[in-house]
Amino acid sequence: MDSLFISDLHLCEQRPATTRALLRFLATRTRGGDALYILGDLFDAWLGDEDDSPLARTVLDALGERSRAGVQVFLMPGNRDVLLGERFARRAGASLLPDPCCRQVGDRRVLLAHGDALCSADLGYQRYRRWIRRPATRRLLLALPLALRRRIAAALRRHSREHTPMKPAPLLDVVPATVEEALIEYGVDLLIHGHTHRPAQHAHRNGSRLVLGDWDGAEARYVCWSAGSEPLLHAFPIAP
Ligand code: MN
Repeated sequence: MDSLFISDLHLCEQRPATTRALLRFLATRTRGGDALYILGDLFDAWLGDEDDSPLARTVLDALGERSRAGVQVFLMPGNRDVLLGERFARRAGASLLPDPCCRQVGDRRVLLAHGDALCSADLGYQRYRRWIRRPATRRLLLALPLALRRRIAAALRRHSREHTPMKPAPLLDVVPATVEEALIEYGVDLLIHGHTHRPAQHAHRNGSRLVLGDWDGAEARYVCWSAGSEPLLHAFPIAP
């Protein structure tokens, strides 16, 4: 029985190879009894659970099929798909996870996060994050017509594409002190997150941190944690 952790697939109609890779991952890497944790940014953009695009249906069908086969699917919204909600999770046979949250895996407790909240040096981004995650903002956005939400999302992506390359590199990574505070706050010595697209294992003063990779390049990096062993980063080819 394995626990598998993936994030930052950024699924979109323009990159069908990534969707095919997810379907292959689900078919070849997950078995009944496994737990699959999707730690944010499954979609490149998600504008509300009423989205019934072919991409959304493909992903719902595939996750639903694995869930019926006995895979426990957990879904944490990221910054790109912060509007993923209960309706999508229910249709996917998944349980929504808050960001961050603690889970028991075997005899250990692990802190799971998307990772954007840990990039605490980027004050402008953290202001935006607090705003977009307010229940009132969410209600307001979800009350807008879907077409208008699409236009807002496109503008936000444009803004991010134009401004991210100009940000100093340290703003785009997690702040070690913030990681260490989170480990203390939750009383754990292991954190798994994504978001930064810098897959690696890091040692901290009070624990360790595994960073998942994105699915935008030639291979994805995910974590497999088998019962009785240590969690490890593995590669998964995007194009077979
Ligand atoms: Mn992200």
